[in-house]
Amino acid sequence: MIESLKQAILDCQNPIITTHKGPDGDAIGSSVAWYHFLRRLDKKPIIVLPDEPPGFLLPFLKGTEFYVFDSEENSTSYAFESNQLFCLDYNSANRVGVKMEPFLRSFSGRKIMIDHHPNPERFCDMVISRVDVCSTAQLIYQTIQELDLLHLLNDEIGKGIYLGIMTDTGSFRFPSVDKNTHSILAHLIEIGVKHHEIHEAIYDVNTVDRLQLRGYAISEKLELHPDFPLGIISLSKEELERFHYERGDTEGLVNVILSIQGISVAAFFKEENDGVKISFRSKGKYFVNEFASKHFSGGGHKYAAGGITSTDLNVTLNQFRALVAEIFQ
Ligand code: 5GP
Ligand code: MN
Repeated sequence: MIESLKQAILDCQNPIITTHKGPDGDAIGSSVAWYHFLRRLDKKPIIVLPDEPPGFLLPFLKGTEFYVFDSEENSTSYAFESNQLFCLDYNSANRVGVKMEPFLRSFSGRKIMIDHHPNPERFCDMVISRVDVCSTAQLIYQTIQELDLLHLLNDEIGKGIYLGIMTDTGSFRFPSVDKNTHSILAHLIEIGVKHHEIHEAIYDVNTVDRLQLRGYAISEKLELHPDFPLGIISLSKEELERFHYERGDTEGLVNVILSIQGISVAAFFKEENDGVKISFRSKGKYFVNEFASKHFSGGGHKYAAGGITSTDLNVTLNQFRALVAEIFQ
């Protein structure tokens, strides 16, 4: 497997790197790391994102060539020259969203998935799937290691890997972190990655609007379930607009719910133009991924999952309330 991957990478021309819609730190971090790794192999990669990344992740894309996919027409130009497409940090084609999915499916070159989500859909020619690894970014490191190419690591690759591991592990605290994670981080610091700058770039970039939106959500919108160790926050379009919502403003809010003493399951609902985006988090004996996939067209990991609906906020919340006991059975 690793030999055929190595051959594939060496053979690739103008590779396209893709990741999931609504890209998070791991999606961007892995893409950026893989981009710079391919550059080190003298390839000419590009990153194609299904939609705009949140502003706080943009600095990490500096120095890469990236596009935001918006129509099938304009995508054909770069697909034309490429014989290889990487799918990073997602396990099924629909995770790139309805607009980009046809492009992905019809891409005629070789598709290679590198991902850590359970149950990968079979739409790629080659699949590197490791559910036990905390982040796709860590899997990128391990893949480079298995390719015996760690000597190619540089600051740019390292920064992407650090970003992905940090954001997908709640800053190295989730059970998915293992001693290998820390050895990798140590190696990244050894090659000069400035870890404190990455923490600051992600966590110290609040706007007043964002803090006030979060303050409002916590003080006015937090609901604790009377029977289950469950906390919910929901925000309507109108509420988001009141605080001049920008992408990323509610990132991590679901973890704030989970930080409440005695709470084991957290659900966050964000109303969008065409439905509701849901984030689930849990701990201990409660899992949320099957619930998300069964009822909310979603999925994810045991303790961190998400889904979507195409109904309005109240309909979605009522649906959730009617079903939520299932998580606690
Ligand atoms: P978040 O709540 O941060 O948006 O997502 C947490 C995790 O849930 C993601 O890493 C991803 O694995 C999963 N996830 C979130 N939204 C969806 C979705 O709509 N579909 C699927 N399959 N997984 C999702
Ligand atoms: Mn991830």
